[in-house]
Amino acid sequence: MVNAGVILPMMGVGFVSEQVCAAAVTAGFAGLLLCVIVFAVIVTAASGAAPARDRIEEIGAGVDHQRAAGPVPARWAPRAVWHRQLGRLPVNADATGGVPFDLVVRNCRLEGRDRLADIAISSGLIARVGDRVGGECLAELDAGGRLVSSAFVQPHIHLDKAGTLPLLGENRSGTLAEAIGILHAIKRSASADEVAARAEVVIRQAIVSGTTRIRSHVDVDTIGGLVPLRGVVQAAREYADLCEIQTVIFPQEGIVRDPGTAGLMDAAMREGGDLVGGMPHWEADEQAAREHIDICMRLAQRYDTDVDMHVDETDDPGSRTLAMLIDATVGHGWQGRVTAGHCCAMAAWEDEYAAQVLARAAAAGLRFVTNPATNLLLQGRADGEPRRRGLPRVKQMLAAGLPVACGQDCVHDGFYPFGTADQLQVALIFCHAAQLSVPSEIDAALSAIRHTAARVMGVRGYGLEPGCTADLVVLDSDSMHEALRRQAARRWVIRRGSVVASTHATTTIHRGDDDEPSPGRR
Ligand SMILES: [Zn+2]
Repeated sequence: MVNAGVILPMMGVGFVSEQVCAAAVTAGFAGLLLCVIVFAVIVTAASGAAPARDRIEEIGAGVDHQRAAGPVPARWAPRAVWHRQLGRLPVNADATGGVPFDLVVRNCRLEGRDRLADIAISSGLIARVGDRVGGECLAELDAGGRLVSSAFVQPHIHLDKAGTLPLLGENRSGTLAEAIGILHAIKRSASADEVAARAEVVIRQAIVSGTTRIRSHVDVDTIGGLVPLRGVVQAAREYADLCEIQTVIFPQEGIVRDPGTAGLMDAAMREGGDLVGGMPHWEADEQAAREHIDICMRLAQRYDTDVDMHVDETDDPGSRTLAMLIDATVGHGWQGRVTAGHCCAMAAWEDEYAAQVLARAAAAGLRFVTNPATNLLLQGRADGEPRRRGLPRVKQMLAAGLPVACGQDCVHDGFYPFGTADQLQVALIFCHAAQLSVPSEIDAALSAIRHTAARVMGVRGYGLEPGCTADLVVLDSDSMHEALRRQAARRWVIRRGSVVASTHATTTIHRGDDDEPSPGRR
């Protein structure tokens, strides 16, 4: 639980011409204030005393990598930049039945709507969307004509591995196999607290970039046992008020080839795992891969949960684990409850075989997550030219009506040395990797981090309609396509009706004595 006076830390680097500040403010209306400052990339600071109901302040820069409670150090002392009196604000007689809204976001630009709109929020849900919403409200926020979107969704990430890169040897081959191998020493030695601390850095990055829902795969094997899961669950509980995090029990080292893992997976489900994962192509042969999938499906049935499996993350055109997963989905009656991630081998399949498998996937209600950033880097390493790109057949899948979401997969680890858990960045990489360039295709890429990703995660009430959960991101842009192109700042992030992060971005061009103003957000 985040409390007043708790510091939400972020790593940061200063730029000469750009200053970005982010503040996280939460606690509903319990009088709590939490602020984060991002200076260029991200810098942190916090305040402990200001009552959240009365005002939201953004505060001066500071740098720290530790989360701390208690009095705010002097260097993090608040410096008011923006200040707004909130409180109980009677608006007009256009009443709400006597119960004030918790928050009204004014002057929102919405996709598909010509006029600006207000979004009124009560009890964490969107209560009303329309022109100048009346009635009383406890707080209001002026979006100033900026675009307001449903908050982003991260359907596939590995929080237990994130941030391990400085602790690893180099992945000299750049392959998946070497990335898995060099992680073993960390998995043997890391404590749950260490896993949690690294995971929390990425969770915070996700929140300030507009993501309020995350699905994380977590290694469960005989090397690390349940420690990675305990670390990620600890981090998830710490941030439960800011971000919803699902965990997928992931047998990274295989199940048949790593005896003891099946029992550990069962224990992991009892310890707080949400979904059953898998990695059947990592087994030694086809029979072991089928056995792997069968163990996972039976575990999912035992705990009545969905399945989200790594499938065919290889360039091998002979890899057939997606077809096996479809067989198992139908065989176990788990239609509509299974997600296939990665699916890289599909790019190397024969056209006729791919079409047949995709048709069967659609009939079985499979959902897909592609991870273009990581797989562009990992796959095709043994290829000459032309080199495969590591993606499934995205356009073909979209044309077939299959849900295709996209995820970050890895952040700053042996698999992928980049990444900040920013889904708008992932969507832009997705467009490049899958050659999504016309408006309808760009819309699909934006859905891959929003509605489609929410569908993959089984999120209910996702959207901007009344009754939906009030998880919103206010972007410094007036359209989603422009937000994607320019990687627009996430001005405010709202989780269940509370502002949980804010970002300022200003740029000045200096020419002689004249300072030209920022090009602005439009
Ligand atoms: Zn993955």
